[in-house]
Amino acid sequence: MVYLIFLAAMLIDLDHLLARPIFDPNRCSINFHPLHSYYAIAVYAGMLFFTKTRILGLGLLIHILADIADCWMM
Ligand SMILES: [Zn+2]
Repeated sequence: MVYLIFLAAMLIDLDHLLARPIFDPNRCSINFHPLHSYYAIAVYAGMLFFTKTRILGLGLLIHILADIADCWMM
């Protein structure tokens, strides 16, 4: 279960790899990457309502929260 959460959080990181440069400490990833848009976040939140996708949605939301925290620290 923890592995699935970890996997989901890693999958969304592929989004970061598509960006150039891959890592920019001065960039907020929220709304910059397609998988980090408010629309995508709404989909992840919706996944929490279904037993089959709940763990995956949780992992994705944890990743988004970590990225949001990064934005706040800038
Ligand atoms: Zn991210």
